[in-house]
Amino acid sequence: MSRTIHHFVHGQSQPGRSGNTADVLNPSTGKVQAVVDLATTEEVNEVIADAAAAQRGWAATSPQKRIRVLMKWIQLINENIDEIARTLSLEHGKTFEDAKGDVIRGLDVVEFALGAPHALKGEYSDSVATGVDVYSMRQPLGVVAGITPFNFPAMIPLWKAGPALAAGNAFILKPSERDPSVPVRLAELFIQAGGPAGVFNVVHGDKTAVDALLDSDVVRAIGFVGSTPIAKYIYERCAATGKRAQCFGGAKNHMLILPDADLDQAADALLGAAYGSAGERCMAISVAVPVGQETADKLREKMIERIGTLKVGHSLDPEADYGPLVAQSALDRVRDYIAQGEAAGADLVIDGRTQGATDDTFDGEDLSGGYFIGPTLFDHVTTDMSIYTDEIFGPVLTIVRADTFEEALALPNEHQYGNGVSIFTNNGAAAREFANRVQVGMVGINVPIPVPIAYHTFGGWKASGFGDLNQHGPDSFRFYTKTKTVTSRWPVGKATGAEFTMPVIG
Ligand code: NAD
Repeated sequence: MSRTIHHFVHGQSQPGRSGNTADVLNPSTGKVQAVVDLATTEEVNEVIADAAAAQRGWAATSPQKRIRVLMKWIQLINENIDEIARTLSLEHGKTFEDAKGDVIRGLDVVEFALGAPHALKGEYSDSVATGVDVYSMRQPLGVVAGITPFNFPAMIPLWKAGPALAAGNAFILKPSERDPSVPVRLAELFIQAGGPAGVFNVVHGDKTAVDALLDSDVVRAIGFVGSTPIAKYIYERCAATGKRAQCFGGAKNHMLILPDADLDQAADALLGAAYGSAGERCMAISVAVPVGQETADKLREKMIERIGTLKVGHSLDPEADYGPLVAQSALDRVRDYIAQGEAAGADLVIDGRTQGATDDTFDGEDLSGGYFIGPTLFDHVTTDMSIYTDEIFGPVLTIVRADTFEEALALPNEHQYGNGVSIFTNNGAAAREFANRVQVGMVGINVPIPVPIAYHTFGGWKASGFGDLNQHGPDSFRFYTKTKTVTSRWPVGKATGAEFTMPVIG
């Protein structure tokens, strides 16, 4: 009998009623390890009602008491991190150590959210006119929802939940149906930390569940992360129903390597950034742009050497550099893109399709059904090829050669995506100019995956992000609260009669 992963509502596990389920696979073996309930519209509406009822008390709770729950929650997640990372690794396919990083980078933002009592303090202007004071306060939105992708099943839910809950909202999480166990575990631990039932609910589902959240009048904001077509769909539908939305989409991240860069450092950085987590990171580097033919030739050789050392294995194999892709459909898509690149005339230097897992078995388990693909390297890629224009989301690195800095800079600037970018150089002036002129939201200088630290904000530009407010950092409290401004007068003396002109400060 396979295990069923249920919804988590009002502080407890809640089996779905419709009988609709999706398989949850172990990508290292291809075997079904559980099924997950998929919610109907009616079930989602019940969860929303439960969250709305719970939110009032949570919003009325002192912010300091709210963050004490979050503090305990952080402690419990840390105490259980090995178990959480193992579950995550087995459902997603990323290595155990990488899975731990997924949890820890999520916790960073919950730690940032502990500053909520300070961040939510309003502003006060005394005596703006005779006997008149003005103050503004940040109030929670009410019920808010997070719709999150498969590739960071702990980090992104925590990025949303931490600030949303600290600000006094009730939070409904609709995680990816591919790796749903960790989100449920996070919600369980929130309750164990003293969080009130109903304030953090998890509802599983597909488009039906998402649409129920989008169409609800009670849900006031949606934080989405996933692919660009869905991000755009959600952003538009939120606008139609008057919701606040932050919708982060896909990516094609470039790394420029200038001739003066330390090429060994650049190649090491590129290896991890391109192939770590099998390239299934929105901040993975998928385009290397060496400037000058000599730089390109040297970089290519260094990459070939390093790629030859990589081990692809079971996600729990401590020696594996990366594990399988998440599903057969992902494997088919990546293989198809490699075929497209080859057909378009790109130089296929290393063809990952010829390699599966490095070993046949791990710990007695047969890996032949897993969704493994070796690292792929293309050189002499041009901007009209689909392997350049599209997000592949797999371990495929393309080299696009540029002759000048300007030519290299134009590549990320003209690309449809604008999530992350980096430059490797020893020239401070060039790096500074790059950071100023590049049309991308997150920039690394000699840093390959420039995911900003929790107290700065995270968000891409162009087709990588829809909405004005980023994730984490100060934007997160702006996103999860609305400002109310009160103008207050306590008259002294007699009534002075009605006034019919606009009051002005004379
Ligand atoms: P996805 O768009 O398929 O799914 C994301 C979420 O949307 C899931 O919860 C899913 O159930 C839901 N969903 C899927 N199809 C839907 C539909 N038709 N209608 C409504 N909801 C739907 O994305 P994914 O494959 O889970 O994640 C990978 C993508 O996420 C990549 O494109 C990656 O670049 C992107 N991503 C972006 C960031 C970022 O910050 N920009 C971070 C992580 C991942």
